[in-house]
Amino acid sequence: MQVPAPFEYERATSVDHAIGLLERLGSSARLVAGGHSLLPMMKLRLANFEYLIDINDLHDELGYVEVGPDEIRIGALTRHRELLESDELAGAFPIFRDAEKVIADPVVRNWGTLGGSLCQADPSEDLSAVCTTLDARCVIRGRDGERVVSMTEFHRGPYETAVGDDEILTEIRFPVRERGGSAFEKVERRAGDWAVVSAGAAVWLDADGRIADARVGLAAVGPNTTGLPEISAALTGSEPSEELYDEAGQLAAQGCRPATDMRGSEAYKRHLAGELTKRALRRSVERARERG
Ligand SMILES: Cc1cc2nc3c(=O)[nH]c(=O)nc-3n(C[C@H](O)[C@H](O)[C@H](O)COP(=O)(O)OP(=O)(O)OC[C@H]3O[C@@H](n4cnc5c(N)ncnc54)[C@H](O)[C@@H]3O)c2cc1C
Repeated sequence: MQVPAPFEYERATSVDHAIGLLERLGSSARLVAGGHSLLPMMKLRLANFEYLIDINDLHDELGYVEVGPDEIRIGALTRHRELLESDELAGAFPIFRDAEKVIADPVVRNWGTLGGSLCQADPSEDLSAVCTTLDARCVIRGRDGERVVSMTEFHRGPYETAVGDDEILTEIRFPVRERGGSAFEKVERRAGDWAVVSAGAAVWLDADGRIADARVGLAAVGPNTTGLPEISAALTGSEPSEELYDEAGQLAAQGCRPATDMRGSEAYKRHLAGELTKRALRRSVERARERG
């Protein structure tokens, strides 16, 4: 039977209350959001905490998708299902709906949160690849106020983030630019499984239809979800073409750092990283053109 070690449990009534509890209880405490990553780890005794601070009552405060003209702000406690169902979000960033359709199953999507996904910092986390692709900024709050960090700063290594023991991730911000398109591609062994490899792409076109900027983020092929600046450099200023997508695919296959495991060999994952990057870029450009 898989049961966690005994722990004390408290429900936070506000973000400040949660921060106060974290300050008092230190590294023996952990926040629990959807619980779909933390609780399995505790049941397997891969993680043991004396206190769990449940933040689910803060959904009114931390569960939202706010779409503005220049920026989209998403609360950390926004659930997978809410991200999947938001038409406004899908309109601005279709990559979110692409990804959410292939993350886990309805039970996990009803509870799991964007903040929990990022804070878990699992190298296979699809939403981390989405946030890397979209150049997200993470808002971290502690007793002394807020700080805002990039995804590169946020993910320090596998299962390690910039969030301190007495801090909470409250919001994720995404810059909105005109003539943009985005897409997400994933290969999984069976429906709802973690990725063998997944790839996100976002492209912004200039008035002449050339690529003004492009970003690619990969999951499950390195110690963290991996942004690939060399692809951005290769694509920027060019006319979209199959040759260009091929070149980007080759850069993705060469630039990632997969390991052979039960999901596939290193060579197979490199092949997928290249192919999925090409497909995601192609679809992103089509979508950017559709939006004019
Ligand atoms: C069967 C199954 C299949 C899955 N398949 C996929 C998949 O295909 N793709 C995929 O990407 N994911 C998958 N997941 C993971 C799923 O997306 C989880 O919901 C997600 O990883 C964690 O979100 P959570 O809200 O449940 O976090 P929790 O488990 O509650 O927390 C995870 C960690 O984040 C911390 N945390 C949570 N919220 C905050 C916050 N606001 N501030 C600071 N720290 C915080 C917690 O303390 C904990 O350390 C799967 C999970 C399961 C159980």
